[in-house]
Amino acid sequence: MVQNRRDFLKTSGLLAGSVILPGFTNKLFDEKIIEKKMSGKIKFRYRPYTLELKHVFTVATNSRSTTPIVLTEIEYDGIIGYGEASMPPYLGESHQTVLDFLSKVNFDKYENIFELETILSDIDSIAPGNPAAKASIDIALHDLIGKLMNQPWYNIWGLNKEKTPYTSFTIGIDKPDVVRKKVKEAEEYKILKVKLGRDNDKEMIETIRSVTDKPITVDANQGWTDKQFALDMIHWLNEKNVLFVEQPMPKTQIEDLQWLTQHSPLPTIGDESVQRLSDVIKAKEIFSGINIKLMKSTGMREAYKMIMLARALGMKVMLGCMTETSCAISAAAQLSPLVDWADLDGALLINNDVYEGTKIIDGKVVLSSLAGIGIRKI
Ligand SMILES: [Mg+2]
Repeated sequence: MVQNRRDFLKTSGLLAGSVILPGFTNKLFDEKIIEKKMSGKIKFRYRPYTLELKHVFTVATNSRSTTPIVLTEIEYDGIIGYGEASMPPYLGESHQTVLDFLSKVNFDKYENIFELETILSDIDSIAPGNPAAKASIDIALHDLIGKLMNQPWYNIWGLNKEKTPYTSFTIGIDKPDVVRKKVKEAEEYKILKVKLGRDNDKEMIETIRSVTDKPITVDANQGWTDKQFALDMIHWLNEKNVLFVEQPMPKTQIEDLQWLTQHSPLPTIGDESVQRLSDVIKAKEIFSGINIKLMKSTGMREAYKMIMLARALGMKVMLGCMTETSCAISAAAQLSPLVDWADLDGALLINNDVYEGTKIIDGKVVLSSLAGIGIRKI
């Protein structure tokens, strides 16, 4: 149970969203725990928190050194399920939007906590959007139910825990000497991920190639806007032991993306273009595969459905993440024996994790055998 001796705050459900006032420093903000009293057996707690990144993180569209998250706990009969929402600012959710959403959640009407299909579809209908807030409920419920069943989710889903993929490790955009240093520090990882889509793309790849031949995955984060330029880049990358290219062009340029995929010598993977289950069918016409993230998909249940649908459509599947604690990373990792590629380095990039669970050992995703999503508090 989350205990915070300095500032434990209990409120009614109606007040919960209004407890945190603007003007607090992050430090104070992070200390508030909100507990919603439910009339039944369920207790629901959540707390805003700020992840500190080890390195300033730069992609095609922005740079930052922290990520706001909200940690959730759903307690039933003394068993606690842990969940998490991670809200990188460019996606539009924030501490406040997640707290507002969670203040509207009510578990009182459910007699059977195992009814994930009913409960999660009700949660989804509270308001459109809010995928990270929804994921924080989905993950906590999965953790709780796995613990009530005394099984990790890879067992409940019937997966072989040895069949987890290697994760890529992201090398951020930087000056050549810094990039070379970062590549050397990433010795343990078998696959490197590079964020492109700026004016020094070839320099980044050549800098990495000056120190290692490891396979690279490329994420352009919608950074190339001309389809012929994008195709020329992909042909060039294809000669450099690159495995695939994620979101080469803006999600609005649907016909260009379609053309690019038809001509591309490398698989193209939709990320910004693909949020939820209904996007998978549309993605079939545009990409070779999809990048599923729990913070886009609203959690594990819909992510599982997306993987099944993508497979039925003959698509490649990648599992990605935001900067997250080992909570959301371990939740995603439960699905990882089902996917082609994983990019689950989110918890490796932060200084202040609060859980331990899934580990990355010699670059491979290694699942813990604990029940639920397989985590414990540090
Ligand atoms: Mg991406």
